[in-house]
Amino acid sequence: FDKLRDGLKKSRESFFNKIGQILKFKKFDKETREEIEELLILADVGVEATEYIIEKLEEMKPEDAFSALKEILVDILKGKNELNVPSEKPFVISLVGVNGSGKTTTCGKLASMFRGEGKQVVIGACDTFRAAAIDQLRVWADRSGATFIAHMEGADAAAVAYDAVNHAISKGKDVVLLDTAGRLHNKKHLMDELQKVNRVIQKLMPNAPHEVLLVLDAVTGQNGLQQAKIFKEVVNVTGIVLTKLDGTAKGGIAIAIAKELGIPIKFIGVGEGIDDLKPFDPVAFVEALMA
Ligand code: GDP
Repeated sequence: FDKLRDGLKKSRESFFNKIGQILKFKKFDKETREEIEELLILADVGVEATEYIIEKLEEMKPEDAFSALKEILVDILKGKNELNVPSEKPFVISLVGVNGSGKTTTCGKLASMFRGEGKQVVIGACDTFRAAAIDQLRVWADRSGATFIAHMEGADAAAVAYDAVNHAISKGKDVVLLDTAGRLHNKKHLMDELQKVNRVIQKLMPNAPHEVLLVLDAVTGQNGLQQAKIFKEVVNVTGIVLTKLDGTAKGGIAIAIAKELGIPIKFIGVGEGIDDLKPFDPVAFVEALMA
């Protein structure tokens, strides 16, 4: 929570505290409305969510507009924020997202989190485009104590996924993390690859993957949101991991994502270390952003 609070310091001071001051001391008239609108947009909340928030505030005509704003934000962020843990084993989670978003790091952090719960974890290196990426993932697997399944650079992603799930089933492992395609040069290609991975693992487990987590870099703001829309079109994303909230990211992006994508944020990344992945808590997030 402290890392999140530190990370959101700038957003808090430059935008949300100002909004708080305006709401506390000014009448909610046209001028106030415009000031708040501008600050929300600057905070990366996005046009759609900003308009929704303003409309809500106008509709509610609240005595205490600052508290009302907090409630509206929590409401937007609230969803199925916990993992959908299946009753069957292994729990198969695939991770998608563009290169640089923090996908590999998140895979390592998730492996470590599950290991901490005493679970046996398998990581499948399905992003086979770069050998360096495979090696980097291997380091995370070693660090977290997960079994690592990889093929050569350029190998078929679906074949790696099949091996990882098959290994987990035959050895009675609890969790499979699949680090999948990170290139976005061509939507058709991305769709083919991700759908093939799903098709192949469904031969072993019809309900897999149980979660598809889209990893997004919070620093990229509205651009990241556009990428997310493309992923949402090609694959059934069940949750978002929002990384790099410890840095220069504007916290408002979480609100834009939740509102515009309608996909719950499940985890946040607050650093480069193995323990720097936290379950997303809407109330704690809004507290860090606003108070
Ligand atoms: P990938 O290409 O999507 O697999 O991205 P990586 O996992 O290699 O991460 C790209 C860079 O972002 C690396 O330098 C990571 O250390 C860094 N990174 C990942 N997650 C976080 C985070 O939550 N906070 C910070 N500050 N850096 C992160």
